[in-house]
Amino acid sequence: MALVALGHSQCRICDRVIRDGDEYIGFSDFGPEPGDPSWMTDFVDAAVHRACFVAWDKRDVFLEHLNAALRLSPDASGLVSRLR
Ligand SMILES: [Zn+2]
Repeated sequence: MALVALGHSQCRICDRVIRDGDEYIGFSDFGPEPGDPSWMTDFVDAAVHRACFVAWDKRDVFLEHLNAALRLSPDASGLVSRLR
């Protein structure tokens, strides 16, 4: 899990600081692979606001590669429920 310092860590999508009370998602070192988009490495041990993640235009591509890297089994919607 990412180390998040509330009031200091920045969201990797909007670059704003993640503050106490913000809903956020932290990612572990999920081990991006050579065929993954280069921007995937920006999210290793990083955090994003939940609202930014939900609205992010790269969300589905990110989840596809993240799920493959973590060898997770998405549900029928194609997503892992805890990341929705
Ligand atoms: Zn954000």
